[in-house]
Amino acid sequence: MAERKPLVAGNWKMNGRPADGLALARGVAERARAPHRCDLLVCPPFTLLAAVGEALSGSDVMLGGQDCHSAPSGAFTGCISAEMLKDAGCSHAIVGHSERRHTCGETDADVRAKTLAAWRAGLVAIVCVGETRAEREAGKAIEIVGAQLAGSLPDEASADQLVVAYEPVWAIGTGLTPTTADIAEIHAAIRRHLPDGTRILYGGSVNPKNAAEILALAEVDGALVGGASLKADDFWAIAQAA
Ligand code: PEP
Repeated sequence: MAERKPLVAGNWKMNGRPADGLALARGVAERARAPHRCDLLVCPPFTLLAAVGEALSGSDVMLGGQDCHSAPSGAFTGCISAEMLKDAGCSHAIVGHSERRHTCGETDADVRAKTLAAWRAGLVAIVCVGETRAEREAGKAIEIVGAQLAGSLPDEASADQLVVAYEPVWAIGTGLTPTTADIAEIHAAIRRHLPDGTRILYGGSVNPKNAAEILALAEVDGALVGGASLKADDFWAIAQAA
């Protein structure tokens, strides 16, 4: 079985003005000088990509975009292409985050097209999936996530171009997390859809207190971290737990 190095990725969402964003990036880069056994990635807002990339240079912390358009260029006001992310120094793009699926109406087909766009530009796609509270309570979490994967992943997926983030919608930003047994069960189910060696991250209210328990699960290959990635100390504590 292929080795899966943990990845701890910070999704800053729509947070970060130049002063605090740069201080955060420098804080992460500074801490990452210490030995660590995981890959590290930060995904700032588009406006900060260039400056954060500069702040991270010389460190092994990677840079990612929070979304990309499926087209390489064109009349798509307000959008950013995967090629533009690549030009800005990104190695990864998050696609299909539930905040985009639910607030921007993105479908599995959109996510699949964005995944292909990320690959076209030479980026690793971090494809997010996850069930709502109602779907979990109806006992449909595995079925829903399986359908999202079937619709969102191109047939030609390979482990070096793909990371899957399991992010239950009801756990994002709420302080709630599934039980470790539930995380282990759904990660094992997700793995059956993926090429050997693909990393599966858990995301949803990961913090320095719960990270060690979640990241110790055999099927969890790292974390996608929202709120706790906005503090360098907290992000680093999660990285150390990986
Ligand atoms: C996210 O939005 O990807 C996320 C996991 O957020 P939080 O850690 O704040 O729940």
